[in-house]
Amino acid sequence: MMKDTRKVVLIGTGMVGMSFAYAAVNQGVCDVLCLCDLNTKRAEGEAMDLNHGVPFAKSNMKIYAGNYSDCKDADIVVIAAGVAQKEGETRLDLLQRNVEVFRSIITPVVKSGFDGIFLVATNPVDIMTRVTYELSRFGASKVIGSGTTLDTARLRYMLGDYFTVDPKNVHAYVIGEHGDSEFVPLSQALVATKPVSAIIEQNPTMYKLEDMEKIENEVRTAAYKIIEAKRATYYGIGMALTRIVKAILNDENSVLTCSAKLSGEYDASDVFIGVPSVIGRNGIKEVFELDLTADEMEKFGKSVAILKDSFSGLKL
Ligand code: NAD
Repeated sequence: MMKDTRKVVLIGTGMVGMSFAYAAVNQGVCDVLCLCDLNTKRAEGEAMDLNHGVPFAKSNMKIYAGNYSDCKDADIVVIAAGVAQKEGETRLDLLQRNVEVFRSIITPVVKSGFDGIFLVATNPVDIMTRVTYELSRFGASKVIGSGTTLDTARLRYMLGDYFTVDPKNVHAYVIGEHGDSEFVPLSQALVATKPVSAIIEQNPTMYKLEDMEKIENEVRTAAYKIIEAKRATYYGIGMALTRIVKAILNDENSVLTCSAKLSGEYDASDVFIGVPSVIGRNGIKEVFELDLTADEMEKFGKSVAILKDSFSGLKL
């Protein structure tokens, strides 16, 4: 892993994959970026297009369209490949089709000799991250899902707007399933080092507790609204993936709400779910356990149950 050239292979050069690639080039996060897709022509066209922007980028980068054998010496394989729901198809049918897509990807990637870190964005991301873990048989620390990183960014943006502070000084998380059962543990939300609940209590004319519920709901439904307006969401997740890749390659030990495997944390095991995780050069260094209230623990338990139920219906 600790070599001079930082190499990332992206599998799936659709909207999400290419938003990641575009952000990665602009932020100069790696030295080599290889693009792979079932649609090889598309990957080639995307590589050409991105290469023409390199002279304007922060640093030089080798970008090319490749195949699974290129994963051999990669540090990270980012997966944003997937199939869309067909008319009349159930969620579980779609999931099963995405399992087959992942089988066709993970098997050759592992066969290439790849020994780095998998980073998964394909939805339902917590399930597809677990599928990657099961199919690759990699250690849990080396299989990461984007989890609720994007949802957490949305929350911090909205709280920053509400309290008129830089979102960077908002410390709050969305945890749980990247989906309808995700939630905000308000007991853990801070502006600078001050709990949000205390700020509200001390400024009742300016701020209201009900507004926190509204914001949480807006975060939870943001993807639906964006999809309704423009068919898909991709810039935010592209930047979230770039943030995670940066944390890995720079060995940052940053806390990000990635989808990580639990082994007793939050009273749960054998599930991949969005939790604050310490991310560094070797992937997930630690799952950070927050002191959740009883009510928050109950919400988390519900999210775990939903994910376990979805996974149990799959044929691996
Ligand atoms: P898209 O249709 O634009 O791109 C998907 C790409 O996958 C296509 O280029 C397709 O050719 C490729 N592909 C399909 N089967 C493949 C295979 N077997 N091998 C290699 N490539 C294959 O879709 P998108 O908008 O880029 O979304 C991609 C995924 O990201 C979806 O599952 C979407 O739900 C998910 N997503 C996740 C988040 C998140 O927060 N985790 C946010 C937005 C979207």
